[in-house]
Amino acid sequence: MLTVKELEAGYGEMQVLWGVDLKVGKGTITAILGPNGAGKTTTLRAIFGLNSPWNGSIEFDGEDVTFLPPHRKVEKGLTMVLEGRHLFPGMTVEENLELGAYTKRAEERFEDSLELVFTLFPRLKERKKQKAGTMSGGEQQMLAIARALMTAPKMILLDEPSQGLAPKLVAEVFETISKLRDEGLTILLVEQNVFASLDIADYAYVLGEGKVVTEGTVDEIKDSDEIKRVYVGV
Ligand code: ATP
Repeated sequence: MLTVKELEAGYGEMQVLWGVDLKVGKGTITAILGPNGAGKTTTLRAIFGLNSPWNGSIEFDGEDVTFLPPHRKVEKGLTMVLEGRHLFPGMTVEENLELGAYTKRAEERFEDSLELVFTLFPRLKERKKQKAGTMSGGEQQMLAIARALMTAPKMILLDEPSQGLAPKLVAEVFETISKLRDEGLTILLVEQNVFASLDIADYAYVLGEGKVVTEGTVDEIKDSDEIKRVYVGV
């Protein structure tokens, strides 16, 4: 579904990514792990087009999308749930969802997307008239994912969806991500919560200093020296 080759990107003069290669298979959950500052968020931002790639290529669903801006990628079925939510707090749940469906592709699939969202998140249905800003942290994170679903994506880039959530809600968010895969969606997930990610993922990449240092199936990664060194302190 997604093939990233030799991706380089950064901020101003500072290069952060030094040739990232990764592949995400259709209908899978792929996790990007690694220590703070490794370039995980930057990788997602560059794939989505929030940061323009300096070098390399990005192919999505058989098409070269390297230099397309985010809204054109959304039009093609690639969307991103941003870290920190970015909802409209003064608007209701329903209004936030409607605003998610802003492309032609999304408009055409509006009813189906809404049905999927309310099936996955019954609480959002109950609270559709509530202002987003008055929802709990966990509910807001669910709403952020739901709003991304309203774009009728084929693939979702998720940046730290469990950040700042209580453990019970973290479990809920991970369960939801698995359900998205069951619905046939493709997921690329950046997470600090390494073990919970490995529980739901199919494949994982470990980044270090802007490069892929290890990759493999979840079982391979759990056994890898890199994971033991970084996260278990061996
Ligand atoms: P974390 O888990 O801590 O979020 P990460 O692996 O996601 O880390 P990035 O957020 O991609 O890492 O950051 C990689 C490097 O780029 C870091 O050195 C960071 O300070 C820098 N960086 C990130 N965002 C910006 C920005 N907007 N402007 C300048 N530098 C940035």
